[in-house]
Amino acid sequence: MGVLVAAAAAADPTVADRIEMLDWSDPERAVQLIGALTLAERQMPDPQTLEILGMVYADVHRDADVEATLARLRLAAERGEKSAFVAEHYVRAYSLYQRDQYAAANAELSHVDIDSLATRSERYRLAILRGNTLRMLSQAEAALPFLEQGLDLAHEMHDDLRGLHAMLWLARIYTNTGNFDRASERLEAARVLATALGDEAALVEIEGCLSDVADRRGDHAAERRSSLAALEHARRSGSNKWLAHALINLGDSYLKTHDYGESLRYSKQALPMVMRLRESGDEPIVLFNEGLAYIGLGNIKEGERLAEGAIGESLAGASLLNAKELLREYADALERAGYLMMAIQVYHRYDEASEKSMSVTRQKTFLELSAKFDDERRARELELLRRDNALKVSEMRGQRLQLQLILAGTLFVTCICAALGWGVARVRRANNRLRFNSERDALTGLRNRRYFNEHVLTVDGARPVCGCVLLADLDYFKKINDTWGHPAGDAVLATVSHRLSAALRESDKLVRWGGEEFLAVLDPITPEQADITVDRLLQAVRRDPVLWNGESIACTISIGYGCFPMAGATMGISLDSAISLVDKALYEAKRRGRDRACLISSVCVDDERELTVISAQFESAAADRRISLVEMGSAA
Ligand code: GH3
Ligand code: MG
Ligand code: MG
Repeated sequence: MGVLVAAAAAADPTVADRIEMLDWSDPERAVQLIGALTLAERQMPDPQTLEILGMVYADVHRDADVEATLARLRLAAERGEKSAFVAEHYVRAYSLYQRDQYAAANAELSHVDIDSLATRSERYRLAILRGNTLRMLSQAEAALPFLEQGLDLAHEMHDDLRGLHAMLWLARIYTNTGNFDRASERLEAARVLATALGDEAALVEIEGCLSDVADRRGDHAAERRSSLAALEHARRSGSNKWLAHALINLGDSYLKTHDYGESLRYSKQALPMVMRLRESGDEPIVLFNEGLAYIGLGNIKEGERLAEGAIGESLAGASLLNAKELLREYADALERAGYLMMAIQVYHRYDEASEKSMSVTRQKTFLELSAKFDDERRARELELLRRDNALKVSEMRGQRLQLQLILAGTLFVTCICAALGWGVARVRRANNRLRFNSERDALTGLRNRRYFNEHVLTVDGARPVCGCVLLADLDYFKKINDTWGHPAGDAVLATVSHRLSAALRESDKLVRWGGEEFLAVLDPITPEQADITVDRLLQAVRRDPVLWNGESIACTISIGYGCFPMAGATMGISLDSAISLVDKALYEAKRRGRDRACLISSVCVDDERELTVISAQFESAAADRRISLVEMGSAA
């Protein structure tokens, strides 16, 4: 209640004003407060009151009440009441904003000339909504003057609460545009104010914003601290809206650090709350996060069901960009959990979605560009009117003027910006492709060696390996190329890679190691199970010839492998050394006639240095039994 008392002290607010302010912290309680309006206000509300009611109804998704409010405003507007005309546009825009339809909301707001409005509180409302709409349309430069205008108006009204909210929106813009120092500065000032006001809801938003900044800076510890602090404030605020926000954020936070159990716990707490609040877009996000947590925990069926459901919903809502992001995260989660084949398929879907979203984005960019012309013109007029004043007052205003001057650039500049925008979108897409292509082998769809080096070897390469490491190489592959041509060789490679994948478990990691060489790292298994797997791989390749252009191309592979921790070694063997060891075994399998596998069953070493020596003198080490090699799987 501290919030209301403070607001009342600052501006002696009407009930409508209190409803408006409470709506931000707790829309459910704001609805209850509607009952406190006087009978006259309820039966014959003025357009300003209707504007606030429409906003609250939109926040709690009472669509019928929103429509009824709009109908009353339209009637009044038709009777010639100018403020009803403005209020109708505001409520419509607010309700579109709530449903994530930002371009349409912006179009509604462009009908209103903010500076011509009679009251400061209405100018504040319109400026903030316009600024936030532009912010959500990623038009940060255009959004900034509106939000700054909101902050100025709050100061003029000596209204701390409105000032606090404006500061928080500004902090979001600074965060989104990568100005983290400026964002943190604003947030610290906001924290002082919110603490003085006892505004727990604002403190949730402040900590949420700080966690976002920390996340973007890669500071996981600070991110977690702020997310947990946000939850504390949310609990104290008693607002379900902010509690849901804080819980969703924590679900996400723990997903990022791969603490799937914790993540699931928070998402499960958030879900019933989100379902009740019906905040647009939140429910699929929570279900999606649950899905990824299940995948991380190894419950692939449930994870797949939830993730696919959320992606389907996103696509059904025609939110291709969103669906694309979900596909990307889904693929990453599958890959991390070792479901490589599934991950590849999802990466392909991500790629298709990227293609499609490109054309949608182009259309949208064009519409937004034409809307931008209007915005620029308006900003230019605004700037001319304020120029003299702005030069005189504070440094902050000076900065804004500079910004407005930039904004008021000519049509030519706008065109260049648009061209740049398209360019950036194209580069971003190219980068996505580049990343996909640079990590995956185009022919087989498997992860390539560069990916393995960067993501596995540099991270885990020096740690003791635990599992079965295996290198497979096609036999006489050069002859296949020479006899049937390079395209035939490609077809053989693609088929063999599929056969190997199919013969392994989803959690096993298979990489195209070199031209016709594959590396597999399997979860820990007994040597007997490893033998069975290796035999299955040999047979999978040998059993049927590859059919290509009517030709039957017979092919076989040779394999070198070992199970780690390795018998005889008194220390753990690193993945790097394990790979060099099994490479020696592969060489031995080739030397003994190919189409067979050689297992390194034990190696007597006490440290890595000794192991390097043994690896280098493999034949003599095998002869004097410092290393034991077993052959298996020959077809003959
Ligand atoms: P070995 O049984 O000893 O392994 O003999 P090999 O002929 O398989 O081995 P070698 O290393 O002599 O030849 C490998 C050949 O694989 C040479 C190279 O041209 C071919 N190769 C490498 N990458 C590709 C590819 O992507 N497509 C095709 N078609 N051939 C490739
Ligand atoms: Mg070969
Ligand atoms: Mg080779």
